[in-house]
Amino acid sequence: EEKRPLKVLFLSSDTGGGHRASAEALGKQFLIQYPGSTYELADLWTDHGVLPYRTLVNTYKHMSAHPLQWKIFYHLSNTKLNEVCANLHSKLTCGRRIKDRLKSHDPDVIISVHPTMNHTPLVKTQQLSKELGKHIPFFTVVTDLGSGHCMWFEKNVDKLYVASDRLYKLARRRGGTPPERLVLTGLPIRHGFAVQAEQLGDRTSSQGKDYQRNMKVELGMDGDKPVVLVMGGGEGVGSLSDIVNELYAELYQQGVDATICVVCGRNEKLKEDLLTRDFDQVVRDIKSKRRTGRKRRFLSRIFRRKAKGDSEEMVLTENSTGRGQITVVPLGFVSKVPEYMVAADILVSKAGPGTIAEAASVGLPVMMTSFLPGQEAGNVEVVLEKGFGAYKHRPAEIANVVTSWLQNDELMASMSKAALAAGNPHAADEIVRDIGQQTVAWMNLNEK
Ligand code: UDP
Repeated sequence: EEKRPLKVLFLSSDTGGGHRASAEALGKQFLIQYPGSTYELADLWTDHGVLPYRTLVNTYKHMSAHPLQWKIFYHLSNTKLNEVCANLHSKLTCGRRIKDRLKSHDPDVIISVHPTMNHTPLVKTQQLSKELGKHIPFFTVVTDLGSGHCMWFEKNVDKLYVASDRLYKLARRRGGTPPERLVLTGLPIRHGFAVQAEQLGDRTSSQGKDYQRNMKVELGMDGDKPVVLVMGGGEGVGSLSDIVNELYAELYQQGVDATICVVCGRNEKLKEDLLTRDFDQVVRDIKSKRRTGRKRRFLSRIFRRKAKGDSEEMVLTENSTGRGQITVVPLGFVSKVPEYMVAADILVSKAGPGTIAEAASVGLPVMMTSFLPGQEAGNVEVVLEKGFGAYKHRPAEIANVVTSWLQNDELMASMSKAALAAGNPHAADEIVRDIGQQTVAWMNLNEK
């Protein structure tokens, strides 16, 4: 196996944190496996696109905060008609500049980790290859987990890497990618997860438990209390605040001692707010809300009508014992996600593909609290199918289920094992090994 330095160009865009995270994970692997290599990230649409491509990042930011708008946009764009029109339009309006940009990078290999960076960049790479009289290999690594937009799947890439059976089937059906060019690996996640997964092993074993306890202490937490890690994605969006309140109140009422670690991302305001929040008052408010719910149900039984806002979770907490010792730890943007996921016993998060793949890689059960329509719906299905988590949307229900998990060691152990079986901490390593070999082979051939 020949090792030589490679010049790698990733095509990505900061629509969410996951694409960049995967590109970085792959880039680091190139540095490890092919010493002396270099890699760069290029966002072709922001730099060279016309409208509407140029404003992709801001459009995404706006729409991901307005799920209904996103749903309409996603489903309208995820059609053959849009694919054909957008590909043609982008090629005609931006093709020349994109080719010039690719030429100026002069890469040995191009890797797209973004659904919008496939058709036109691939066609331009093929033209450039012809012009230069050498083959520049072009790969796509799909950074989604359970659902994939049709623009991910280009038939003529050198290889297409996907992270789940669902995406494998989708690539065959929608993209017509032949099996010899389609590889099922896992989602590339940062190297730190492979390191931690190796050290932790099975977190239900006594060795795993010791490692986890030490990690909790190392991160400044109580080693003997379970840790619930609440993450809202890179931007700290979602109803994190309500989830933390309900979780605190439920754990307290059920007498479960725990640490709630809240990753607020770039949401500084939430972090400040959590630092000064009076959680005793939060518990009193939630208790009174539940009492009102009980009264309403009682009256509704008398008047034989269904009470408005009546729900299951209000009944479930009535047999509480009270007084769990809860510590809330608000964090900003966390770079030690692998370590925090080792320390955690349960992850509470939106159904981001990267976050879910990361949790699975270290055997961490997941409670999913929201998902972006279309794009992230399949991620929920993957977690449910593989049996390492659940989906609940209402904060009170989330709190109720998470607390019941913490009281059920057997269920926790089986979910953790299911997560381990579903995850692949070595995906980036495997993908780079495969891409690297093909790239070196092409470089040798090109030089002859
Ligand atoms: N993340 C991080 N630090 C934080 C919050 C999030 O490193 O404080 C990372 C997280 O580990 C994951 C990425 O941000 O790798 C989020 O990617 P995902 O695909 O889950 O969601 P997206 O942001 O792309 O919608």
